Amino acid sequence: MEIVRSSRRSIASVIDSPPALSFYRSAPSVEVRLEEFELYGIDRLKVLKGISDGLSRGRKPDEMEKLVNELWRANMKHHDASEALNKDIISHFVLRLVYCRTEELRKWFLSMEATLFRYRFRLEGPEIQRALMTNFNLPYKPLSHAEYEGVKEELNQVARSIGASNSADSMFYKVNFEEVPELIATRKVFVHKGYAYVAMNQVVSLVVTQFRSHLSKALALTNRKWMSSIRDLEKDRLTPIIEAMSSSYLGPDYSKPKESAELSLKDIDSVAHTSFPLCMRHLFDKLREDHHLKNGGRMQLGLFLKGAGLSLDDALAFWRAEFSQKVGQERFDKEYAYHVRHSFGKEGKRTDYTPFSCQRVISSPAAVGDHHGCPYRNFSEENLRAALRSMGVAERPMEEVMEKARNRHYQVACMLTFEAVHGCSCDTGVNHPNQYFTLSQKALAARSTGGDRESTV
Ligand code: SF4
Repeated sequence: MEIVRSSRRSIASVIDSPPALSFYRSAPSVEVRLEEFELYGIDRLKVLKGISDGLSRGRKPDEMEKLVNELWRANMKHHDASEALNKDIISHFVLRLVYCRTEELRKWFLSMEATLFRYRFRLEGPEIQRALMTNFNLPYKPLSHAEYEGVKEELNQVARSIGASNSADSMFYKVNFEEVPELIATRKVFVHKGYAYVAMNQVVSLVVTQFRSHLSKALALTNRKWMSSIRDLEKDRLTPIIEAMSSSYLGPDYSKPKESAELSLKDIDSVAHTSFPLCMRHLFDKLREDHHLKNGGRMQLGLFLKGAGLSLDDALAFWRAEFSQKVGQERFDKEYAYHVRHSFGKEGKRTDYTPFSCQRVISSPAAVGDHHGCPYRNFSEENLRAALRSMGVAERPMEEVMEKARNRHYQVACMLTFEAVHGCSCDTGVNHPNQYFTLSQKALAARSTGGDRESTV
C-alpha cells in the first residue's frame, strides 16, 4: 500500500470479482491518498469502538449481529462494491499500523477485528461461506462421503441437537479437536479419536480461530516493521496521524456549547450536583474544598465548564473567587487569570481549546495529589463506592457499576451511573463528559415537564 498526496489507481484493476469478506493476508498494491488513509481508518475505528461498546454492555449474539450490521452499513458501505472492498482492506491495514504499537493496543484490535469478522461471516449464507473458506485457502475439506457414512448416526444426532435443518447445514468438516475448544465446551460437536466433526452452521468458530492466529502473527510483524523503520521514516507524515488515531475521540465537538443553555454562576453549584459526571463533580468539590487545583485539574474542569456554556467573564469570576481564598486576588490575577483567558483562545497562540473526551481523561496520568482523570479508573473501591453513594446510586446498580469499573469498562460504569441517577436509559453510551452533561440536562428537563421517567436519552 503506497500513500500519496493525491490521485490514485482504482483497486478494481487489481482485484477481479471481489469477495464479500477479506482475510487481509496482504496489503493491497494500490496508492492511497493521505486524506483517505485517515478517513478510512477513522470510519473503521467507529465500527470497532461500537463493537467494543456492545460487548462491554453484555449484548447477546443476535443483538451483536444486528449491531455489527448497522455499524458496518453506517460507516463502511459504498455504492460501488469494489470501492467498498477497497475501503475495507485499506482501513484494516491502516488500523494495523495504529494498533500494532503496544501489547494493549494489539490485544484490543485483535479482539475487535475477530468479533467483526465473526459477525460478518455469520451474516453470509452457507454457499458464500463455503466459497469464502476456499477463497481464504483454509486447511479444511468437507468430510468425504465414505467418512461420512462411517459416523453418519452420530453426526445426524449432533445435527439435530444444534438445529441443522438443511443439507448445507448437515455438511461436516473433520478437524483436530484442539482447534474448536468453544464448540467442545458447549457440546456442539461430535468428537471421535482426537477429531472434531464440525457442522457447516458452526464452521464460523474454525474460521475465526484461523483469522485470529493469522492476525496475531501479522500484528507482531507489523510492530517489528513499525519500530525498526516506519516510525522514523514517516515521522513527518504518517506517524503523527497514526499516533493520534488510537486515542482519537469520534463523537460530536463540544468546544462550543450547542444544545445546552448557558451555564451561569448562580446555578453552578446545583447543576454540578445534578448533571456533572463523576470526574467533573470530583474536581468541582475539591476546588470548593481546597480553593486550589493543579494544572491538570484546572484544564480538565475549565474546558468542561467552557463546553457546558460558562462565559469567559463568569469563568474568571468563578476561578478568582476560589483561588483568591488560597493565594490572594493579586496572585490570581498575575499567575492564573492568564491561563483561563488562554483556554478560551484569548492569549498566546489564540487556540480555542476543546474540552477533553472520556478517552483523553481516562488516559491522563494522575500523580498523588492530582484530582484529574477518571474516578472509575483512579479511585479505590472504597472511595468509588462512597462517591457513588453521594450521587444517589442505590446498592444494586452500584454493584453493576463496580463490576464494570473492576473490569476496566470505565465508560460503561459511567453510563450505568447515569442511568441509576437519572432513572432513564442512556443508549448512546458515555463518550464525553460534556455529552453526559447535555444528556443529564435533557433528562432533567423532560422530567420537570412531566416526561416519562423510564424514557431514553
Ligand atoms: S467515563 Fe468519562 S464522563 Fe464518566 S467519569 Fe470517566 S471521564 Fe468522566
